[in-house]
Amino acid sequence: MYNNTKMQNPSEMLTNLRNSFNSGKTRSLQFREKQLNNIIKLIDENTNLILDALHDDLNKSKQESMVCEIEILKNDALHMIHNLSQWTKPKSVEKDLVNIMDKVQILPEPYGVVLIIGAWNYPLTLAISPLIGAIAAGNCAILKPSELSPATAKIIAELLPKYLDTNCYKVFLGGPAETQELLEHRFDYIFYTGSTRVGAIVAKSAAKHLTPTTLELGGKSPCFLDTTVDIDIAAARIFWGKALNSGQTCIAPDYMLCTQEVEKKFIEAFKKAQTKQFGQDMKDSPDYCRIINNNHFNRILGLLEGQEIVHGGNHDASQRYIEPTICVNVDPNSALMKEEIFGPILPIIRVDNAAEAINFINAREKPLALYVFSNDKSIVNLFEKQTSSGGVCVNDTIMHFACDALPFGGVGNSGIGAYHGKFSFDTFSHQKAILEKPLDKFGEMLQSVRYAPYNDGKIRTLSLLTRKRQLPIPREYFSQILLVLFGVFVSYLYFTMMQKDC
Ligand code: NAD
Repeated sequence: MYNNTKMQNPSEMLTNLRNSFNSGKTRSLQFREKQLNNIIKLIDENTNLILDALHDDLNKSKQESMVCEIEILKNDALHMIHNLSQWTKPKSVEKDLVNIMDKVQILPEPYGVVLIIGAWNYPLTLAISPLIGAIAAGNCAILKPSELSPATAKIIAELLPKYLDTNCYKVFLGGPAETQELLEHRFDYIFYTGSTRVGAIVAKSAAKHLTPTTLELGGKSPCFLDTTVDIDIAAARIFWGKALNSGQTCIAPDYMLCTQEVEKKFIEAFKKAQTKQFGQDMKDSPDYCRIINNNHFNRILGLLEGQEIVHGGNHDASQRYIEPTICVNVDPNSALMKEEIFGPILPIIRVDNAAEAINFINAREKPLALYVFSNDKSIVNLFEKQTSSGGVCVNDTIMHFACDALPFGGVGNSGIGAYHGKFSFDTFSHQKAILEKPLDKFGEMLQSVRYAPYNDGKIRTLSLLTRKRQLPIPREYFSQILLVLFGVFVSYLYFTMMQKDC
């Protein structure tokens, strides 16, 4: 599919991108908007090609592809276009007395040439969504899609140069060896999506050049379920989150935590949800994805060895099909509970209460997502306040990913940094601090208090000018107070005029 030595030369690519970046081309708002519009055009004009590629790679259904890859990207690009002029403006910030005469601002500026490394499970979204952020922030980029979803990688490599400025955005194809070759070079930012293991390799390479990184990693996302919820609704949402993309979703609920009483009801409700959503035999459903390759298929089945299966377990190697499968009485030290499952298997760990579930979660690596199904506010509050995870989603699964007002990213082993919506723009922007001072004589007289010779009087003045003050009224009420004062002023004017008329 690609011949790295002949067709892709990272040094040449980088020189070309650096020259383009240094020309200032990507800083222009019109240029960024045009590129973002072209991404939308690319998707609109090639929807069927994209759907076919996703189907080839993962047997992805039209609906999953439209919702999780196509619409999400178009909205992402549109959101950037609508907000770019606002986000790129310098922002004035709070001033202390010492800076009262100065202009104090934060100016978002592009990092330069960024590297984006994608994963295979949502192969279009995980490549193009960070690219949208990089373009919006004014960067040049090399995009390295995953080699494990070759059909999608191929169409990305074919289509992107037809729609985007090829001197500013390039696609580099390859697997681990090619990615490591790229990582030898200096980038201004690296955005990586994939496993925690490879994330550490990327971080190590980036450290050689002190390159800042975002690492969008994975992990085991727990799901707690208690007696206060409608079990059928909860099971339908948990089943959907687990069956989506055949469990190959970084924020799929990885394992359940519930009491023995809830476990029984949940298993029955889960079976019902499966039949309702995919029919009697999931294998016959055109809507269910397949496992990406034989390695992952065998890895997932290997996790079932020695486990007590109470639902599912059917599989077919010829299609890389695995039915959603529930395991109970799972040993927390078994392989199933040691690594991220990334497939349609759902172990249930019995706990006596929420506190035990929280202890179980806190004894492990910090997850990317944490799911709580409960109508008891105090229980929800406990999970939100006493655990740490990339995000928390209450009474649903996956849906927090789709809310671009929220940052999406991990913490600890599940990642560093976040993106989506404005957070993507910020991720790919350096927040440059700007202080502009007037050079007038009066200002200089005030400022000269910091110069030697030092004395106690100058110390007192400086301490007065720089002291942090508690405002008598919180800053967020300022605008309301101004509005009320304005109202009082207008009423005063009105009544004085009325009195004159009388
Ligand atoms: P992966 O780490 O194997 O591969 C990701 C990328 O890294 C690919 O482009 C691959 O070519 C490259 N790569 C692989 N080995 C490499 C090496 N030795 N050196 C340099 N580069 C290398 O991950 P994956 O299997 O594609 O994805 C699955 C993992 O990604 C899961 O853990 C999942 O949770 C996680 N994930 C996270 C998110 C997120 O947004 N946080 C999204 C999707 C997937």
